[in-house]
This record gives sequence, C-alpha cells and structure tokens, in this order.
Amino acid sequence: MQDKIEAGASVAIIGAGIAGLTCAVQLQAKGLDVQVFDKSAGVGGRMSTRRGPSWQCDHGAQYFTAQSAAFREELLRWEAAGVAGLWTARMHVIDSPESPWRETGASTKRYVGVPSMTAPAQFLAASLPVQLESHVDILKREPEGWRLHITGQGWQDRLYDALVLALPAPQAKELLSQISSPLRELVASVRMRPTWALMMRCDESFDPGFDAAFVNSGPIRWLARNLSKPQRQGHNMWLLHATPKWSEAHLETHRNEIIEMLIEALQIICPALVRESEAHRWRYADTEQLLGRQYLWDAEIGLGLCGDWLNEAKVEGAWRSAVFLAEVMASGSLNKCLDAELISIKYSTSLYKSALELRNEVLRKPLGRSLDLVDLEGESEQQHFGIIGQENALIACVSAKEISGKHCKLRQMAVAEKFQGKGIGAELVSRVERELIAQGVREISLHARESAIRFYEKLGYVCAGELFDEVGISHIKMHKIVR
Ligand SMILES: Cc1cc2nc3c(=O)[nH]c(=O)nc-3n(C[C@H](O)[C@H](O)[C@H](O)COP(=O)(O)OP(=O)(O)OC[C@H]3O[C@@H](n4cnc5c(N)ncnc54)[C@H](O)[C@@H]3O)c2cc1C
Repeated sequence: MQDKIEAGASVAIIGAGIAGLTCAVQLQAKGLDVQVFDKSAGVGGRMSTRRGPSWQCDHGAQYFTAQSAAFREELLRWEAAGVAGLWTARMHVIDSPESPWRETGASTKRYVGVPSMTAPAQFLAASLPVQLESHVDILKREPEGWRLHITGQGWQDRLYDALVLALPAPQAKELLSQISSPLRELVASVRMRPTWALMMRCDESFDPGFDAAFVNSGPIRWLARNLSKPQRQGHNMWLLHATPKWSEAHLETHRNEIIEMLIEALQIICPALVRESEAHRWRYADTEQLLGRQYLWDAEIGLGLCGDWLNEAKVEGAWRSAVFLAEVMASGSLNKCLDAELISIKYSTSLYKSALELRNEVLRKPLGRSLDLVDLEGESEQQHFGIIGQENALIACVSAKEISGKHCKLRQMAVAEKFQGKGIGAELVSRVERELIAQGVREISLHARESAIRFYEKLGYVCAGELFDEVGISHIKMHKIVR
C-alpha cells in the first residue's frame, strides 16, 4: 500500500455522522470513489433530532461553535445553503438551586442546524452514496482489499481499497478486534462517557426567563428550550442532559426511573409542568481523555479513523478530524495546515527568540553545534516568518534575506521535530513565497542540505552548481522563479 490512495480508488466509510460525511465529501472531491454506511435510519449521528406528533427536539449536540478559519468557511457554506444558523439564546448559568441564576458573560457565537440539528449532515449526504440501516459488524482485510459484513445482509461482494471508521472509539475498537494494526491499541485506550437525555413537552406557558442554561450542581448539566432555536416548530419542548457522572452511575437504569429522577431534579432548580417526556441514552456521548491526535491513518493496510474523540470533543472537532484524514489519505501528507496562519516574526521579540530556539534545536544541535554570531549576522534587516501550531507554540520558521529588490534568499528553515513529515515545511515555504511575490519578489534562492533536495524539487526549485560544504554538511544552491 502506498502512502496515499490513488485517484479512482474505492473507500468504504463507516459512520454517517458529521465526521464520516465530511471525510466522504472531501475524498470524493479528490476523485475517490466513496461509499458511506450507517446503521441508523438517517444521517447525522450525534447531531440528532427526535420527532413526534407536533414536536421535535435536538437531543444530541445542542449547538456548535466555529473557532477555526477552516470550519468558519464550512459554516458559511452551510448558512448559504440554509442548513445552519445563529442561535441567539438567552443563556444562563445555574450554579446551585440556592444561588441566583446568572447570564453567561461570554460572547460566544453558537450555531445550530436549521430547521433541525441533522440538517448540515443531510446537506453533506445529498451528494454521496449513503447506505442506511446497515450495521457493519465484521471487517476483513483481504489481500485485494477490505470486505464488510453487515448484520442481516451477510458478507458484501464489493471490496474496498481503503476503509475509514468514523465512529465513537469503543465502536471502532469492536470492529478492529480482528484486524492487525498498530492503531488498535490507540483506539482501545480511549474511554467515552454516556449522557442521558430527556426530551420534555412542557406546559406552553413555561418560560423560566432563559432559553438555555449550563447547570453546575446535581444530576443535570444542561437545559434548553428547543423552540428558541431558529425555524423550530410545534410544542414547547425542553431538552435536559444529565452529567456524565450521573449518567454513568445510572447507565442501566430503566428509562421510566430515569425520567422520574431527572424531572424531580429539574423541579429543585426550576419548577416546570412536564406533560410528556422521553428519555434517550447516549452510550458514547463524549470523551474522558482525548487521544491528542487529529486522525489515525495506517497506510500499510489503508485504514483511517476520524471523529470527535481524537482531538476535540465537539462538532467542529469531528469535522476537522475528518478533513485532516481526507487530506492525508488523498495527498500522502498534510499539505494544508488547516488553521495555522503564517505570521511575521519581528526581530528581537520573544517570538524571534522562540524561532532562534527552534532553529538551534532542529538545525544545530543534531550537528553538535549551536547558533553562532555568523548565523545571526544581518538578521535585523531580514524578514522572519513562522507557523504557530494548535498549542500556541511556534512549530516552524524561516527567514528571508533580500539579495536585490526582486530576489530573496530563504534561510534557516526549521520545523519542530514532532511536526516533521506532515507537510508543514512545504506549507510554510509556499505561504512565504506568496508573501514575497506580493512584495514584488520574482526569484527565490536557498542553500539546501543534500538530504532536502527532493523536498525543494517537489516545490519547484532547481539545483544550480555543485555541492559545497556549509556547517560541516553537504549543501547545494537551488532557486525558483516565482510569479
Ligand atoms: C448528549 C450530547 C451533547 C452534545 N453536545 C454538543 C454540543 O453542544 N456542541 C458540540 O459541538 N458537540 C456536542 N456533542 C458532540 C457532537 O455531537 C459530536 O462531537 C459529533 O456529532 C461527533 O460526530 P462523529 O461523526 O465523530 O460521530 P457520530 O455523530 O457519533 O457518528 C457516528 C456514526 O456511526 C454510526 N455507526 C456506529 N457504529 C456503526 C457500525 N458498526 N456500522 C454502521 N454505522 C455505525 C452511528 O450510527 C453514527 O451515525 C454532543 C454529543 C452528545 C451525545
């Protein structure tokens, strides 16, 4: 198996939640032949809406935020398609039954699917082949590809070149039990927690003065008036989520008892006349400890995993994980640093100091040296650029020295060790090129280490002249005409 999946190859994606559908859309756009499976009767997974006679209620994800630039762009597409909108709720915090409720101070913008939470998933699924009511229960990696077994439908004839599991970790773990992959252990290490959800039809006049509340004591952690979300209709439905701790302790308790206990707890903080109610148990609602990886990809056997349990336990996190995975599967590396922005580093600031530390660590220490005065000569006149990673630390940097108005030399490029091999260096060079082009630069040159020649060739640089020695290792001059 190659590092990347060739265009036209087939990919089975198990899970039609926001992660699975997003991954499918991205892979399809890159020319792959995708097929999505889900065990449910509809798409959306935990972005879910329950319906009854004259009522509807979002009982999984309540809203989503958009913090990264990439997800904000996606949100704009959803808004333009009319499947997402801003939820301007009267948002409160209830610390305890005794203390007065307070308004949330934060100015967070919260969005919801419209007319229901499933709408963005339905929008994504519209252009995809999705097979619903198909519970994949066994996987087999045959020499020619992946074969799926579906409950009640048996082994499927079609083989797939690659497989994506876009499921909560414990469900992925079960499917991987027969598969030999180093990813298995990682997936097995993730513990997810349950949430009991209660959908309540309250008296039509019930209005406690807030549309949603974070609750910080007792078994309840969240309350929301479904009708306060845009384009909702029907009865005065309220949604209650229990805390993970309480839900775990009552995981196997009968639904009727759950309803009784939670309505009783509700009366203590906010007396309500509940006319009807339904309980739903989310066995895998959120993640106790995130894995800290954006995605998992085993190129050997063509197996990828994405979802909210990897790096960010929320809708945006599931979406981002899927985009990262699709990028790696189709391109062989993370060619896009999805959020990382190119920053200009001012000489002699603390960020410049961080760049020096990074350069020292990556470029000098392995040679048994440290940065010296010659390395820093003239740097006050040069431009310095960097990329800040998710943990707010500098992960890559490069400097640009002006040779003439139209000619710049890139120097001292360093990518932090744990980010190497992920396409960050290529991203940094191409972003710096764009910046320099905007400044009128037409030619960029550099001294490449012999081991980095292929890297720069892929970016369009050509060698000029012979190898020469610099800091004790073999280098060559390379250059590129840019427009
Ligand atoms: C109670 C609750 C409250 C939440 N509140 C918020 C919130 O306010 N804001 C926020 O951003 N996020 C919230 N979340 C989290 C958010 O819903 C998730 O992060 C996101 O929806 C996860 O998407 P996903 O695609 O990774 O997984 P899922 O949405 O879980 O999708 C997985 C899909 O896989 C399918 N599947 C599983 N096993 C199989 C199988 N063997 N064969 C076939 N199909 C299978 C499932 O049916 C499901 O459709 C909440 C979640 C819950 C449960």
